[in-house]
Amino acid sequence: MADYKIAVIAGDGIGPEVMEEALRVLKAAEESEGFSLEIEEFPWNSEYWLEHGRMMPEDGLEQLRSFDAILFGAIGDARVPDDITIWELIMPIRKGFHQYVNFRPVKSLPGIQTPLANGDGIDFVIFRENAEGEYSDSGGRLYAGQEGEMAVQNTIMTRAGIERITRAACRYAKENGRKKITSATKSNAVIHANKLWDEHVQRITGEEFGDLEFEQYYVDALAAYFVQRPQSFEVVLASNLFGDILSDLGSGLVGGLGLSPSGNINPEKDYPSMFEPVHGSAPDIAGQGIANPIAQIWSAALMLEHLGEKRAAVRMVTAIEEVLAEGEVRTRDIGGEATTGEMGEAILHAFQSN
Ligand code: ATP
Ligand code: MG
Repeated sequence: MADYKIAVIAGDGIGPEVMEEALRVLKAAEESEGFSLEIEEFPWNSEYWLEHGRMMPEDGLEQLRSFDAILFGAIGDARVPDDITIWELIMPIRKGFHQYVNFRPVKSLPGIQTPLANGDGIDFVIFRENAEGEYSDSGGRLYAGQEGEMAVQNTIMTRAGIERITRAACRYAKENGRKKITSATKSNAVIHANKLWDEHVQRITGEEFGDLEFEQYYVDALAAYFVQRPQSFEVVLASNLFGDILSDLGSGLVGGLGLSPSGNINPEKDYPSMFEPVHGSAPDIAGQGIANPIAQIWSAALMLEHLGEKRAAVRMVTAIEEVLAEGEVRTRDIGGEATTGEMGEAILHAFQSN
């Protein structure tokens, strides 16, 4: 029997509230699918920072190292500067564990109102480069406080980094019956980094994945096409910054933050990958029991898929879709009055009976 070690970091705000529901569904998956999950919870959140002056212990990464995956809730608290939660917890995990793929499914869901006149049939995934690119800490401030004050922020793209994210996207396409890769670029304006991106994306797709269709757009045009014809995309490949923006645009197209999962993936599986909802800690609704747990439950499904438990993952996503299609139980963000617990319960029941 497969036995997986899962590290759970529930975090702040609604993180622990939605995590509780995901853990209930995972427990049911374990019972019915015949694998076992060894779950350990880590209290690394803003409370922890206020008490210890750091987001995780000095050997935090080593503690996580032996796990098969990390299920993350959300982090963020008004008492802690935003960049601390990101650079002291999320970034060290992403970078330390070579989670160079940020994976975001964008899929129309039954019965969910979207801002598009025709929002049906959207079903694509975004592979965002997650380890380099525009989000680097290389750079600095010059002439601070003076009139000529300036900042330099460097984009770092490497041939190896571009090759591996391209291969990950193409392999995913082949393994999941997707036929087309769409690359986002801006090589007409970002002439150094993005030309390197184009060259190596084109080379890898051409030489190694010639059976996949390949297209490339400037990211500004692509943003418009996301809105005008989102159904035409299958696998979208983008650098860190462009992928970040396109991902939130994608999530907006299909119904919003409460429904959007993500994975920070190390495809080689030599380090644990981390799965988390796209939303943050939502301090405005924390403690009220009204957060939508779907993004967190779906993130748990992505985790099971990554671990190789594809059937359990499909059953979980199907359960979410069934509950939404029925339309009886809905949290407030999607037009209902159900609590977090009621929504989780409905998905749990649907899961158990499919
Ligand atoms: P952070 O800095 O942690 O990202 P934020 O306020 O910028 O926090 P979110 O926490 O993602 O961003 O919240 C954005 C908005 O979406 C808030 O109004 C929040 O209540 C709402 N929201 C986010 N997640 C959910 C959810 N799971 N269910 C319902 N509403 C949500
Ligand atoms: Mg936010």
